[in-house]
Amino acid sequence: MVNKLIKVIGAGLAGTETAWQIASLLQVQNITNYKVQLYEMRPQVKTPAHHTDKFAELVCSNSLGSEFITTARGVLIREMQHYKSIIINSAQKAKVPAGQALAVDRDIFAQEVTEKIESHPLIEVIREEFTEDLEKYIAGDDYIVFATGPLTSPDLAKKIQSLFKLINPQAKTDYLNFFDAAAPIVEESSINMDIAYKGSRYDKGLEEGEEGDYINCPFYSKAEFENFYNELINSQKAELKDFENENMRFFDACQPIEEIAAKGSQTLTFGPLKPVGLRDKRSPDKRAVAVVQLRQDNVVGSLYNIVGFQTNLKWSEQKRVFSLIPGLENLEIVRYGVMHQNIFINSPELLNQDLSLKISPSLQAERGNLPNESKIFFAGQITGVEGYTESAATGIVVARSIINSILGKDKFIMPEQTMLGSLVHYVTHCDPKRFQPINSNWGLLNKNPETLEKQYRKNKKLRYEYLAQQALAALQGETLSMFIVV
Ligand SMILES: Cc1cc2nc3c(=O)[nH]c(=O)nc-3n(C[C@H](O)[C@H](O)[C@H](O)COP(=O)(O)OP(=O)(O)OC[C@H]3O[C@@H](n4cnc5c(N)ncnc54)[C@H](O)[C@@H]3O)c2cc1C
Repeated sequence: MVNKLIKVIGAGLAGTETAWQIASLLQVQNITNYKVQLYEMRPQVKTPAHHTDKFAELVCSNSLGSEFITTARGVLIREMQHYKSIIINSAQKAKVPAGQALAVDRDIFAQEVTEKIESHPLIEVIREEFTEDLEKYIAGDDYIVFATGPLTSPDLAKKIQSLFKLINPQAKTDYLNFFDAAAPIVEESSINMDIAYKGSRYDKGLEEGEEGDYINCPFYSKAEFENFYNELINSQKAELKDFENENMRFFDACQPIEEIAAKGSQTLTFGPLKPVGLRDKRSPDKRAVAVVQLRQDNVVGSLYNIVGFQTNLKWSEQKRVFSLIPGLENLEIVRYGVMHQNIFINSPELLNQDLSLKISPSLQAERGNLPNESKIFFAGQITGVEGYTESAATGIVVARSIINSILGKDKFIMPEQTMLGSLVHYVTHCDPKRFQPINSNWGLLNKNPETLEKQYRKNKKLRYEYLAQQALAALQGETLSMFIVV
């Protein structure tokens, strides 16, 4: 009989993965006295970046990253597949053509996740903002997972902060934060294909006769590019509200295009607008000085997003300036780019490696009745991982940590040779003073390059293949009974 709860707060990328993994493992392990309650505040309470009431909504790009095994994200995706991730399985079902990237039709993807979650017998969905006082969770029977993301509702954010102060008074418990921006989505029918052309950089992964998945808008004239560049750097930005912290930074991988441009025009032509490896087959001799790429955003191919064009320009300015891109002169934007504050917690100070909240020894001594292990967990971007895929992946760790705790087993620690294990190790062990959001990357796996055999040190491709193999091999040691059968 169900008499205990595992509350998961937030049905985004991390919350849905966590809830689904826990519910499925409860079944696999035949644990009958627990069920999951998944709270989601949308649509009653909105965030500044979400547009729908669906779970796992992708707020900007429609790509979960490269699936290629010699990329860091590719390894993470394989690891998530190994654990039967609901996010990766749903993405495969909603896939749109995008070369080696796992890009999705965002509506089909979110619908797929929402339906799977809503129909799971051990998940009760509660559509309301979670604003309970949190002190009772310090020593209560129920588990709770905060997966409320970079746009955690302000009320809850305050409550979580008070909880930190109570539970770990010595730690630095202020929220950290940075800016994140989204790119516009445009109607395919508004793109002038007499100028733009389909193609993939270096024709990567293309068979004979295939044209490539991206739409490319080439600047052939230097003057035309300079005009666009000048308009971009002199354009009007939207006002940023509610940002009290003057020290707030941009996350490197998600800087607004106008911020990148402000550092010089070459930051564009060697960055998001680099023309190398792209050629219009209708006029192969023409060399572009810069190329803007658009990636398909829905299955039918009627919507495309402008790759790398996350922006904080005023909406009228987005239309005016981006219309200066060759092929986009009649551009129709269906969703404008926006920029928002992202919050995350100081995980190295606050979280254990299984992503549970640390309880300070002084509080334990003072209260006397506290359990050694906390039943409060964090998942997703709020822990300081960055990106859809990384956020979802942490849900896999939290689910196994909770199941181990219920079964009275040792803490679940993901092997550090894996991309996910090294990511979680980083966010829980990095120097708290210089803690910044982090994507999956090879540096995490390749911590001691000098210990690698010479052949792997010299050859990048061999090295990545080797590290990927090590990561996947490390998963084979996992207990089979913890696998979800689908
Ligand atoms: C503007 C912007 C652009 C971004 N662009 C990209 C990108 O292009 N690519 C990329 O990989 N990542 C991007 N990110 C990061 C992206 O948000 C995260 O990678 C990912 O969505 C985080 O997953 P999550 O589950 O932690 O949070 P979310 O997916 O945001 O899910 C959190 C959920 O919690 C709900 N919630 C919040 N507070 C409460 C409450 N009190 N009660 C109940 N529910 C609550 C929210 O409504 C939301 O559904 C962007 C983020 C922002 C803000």
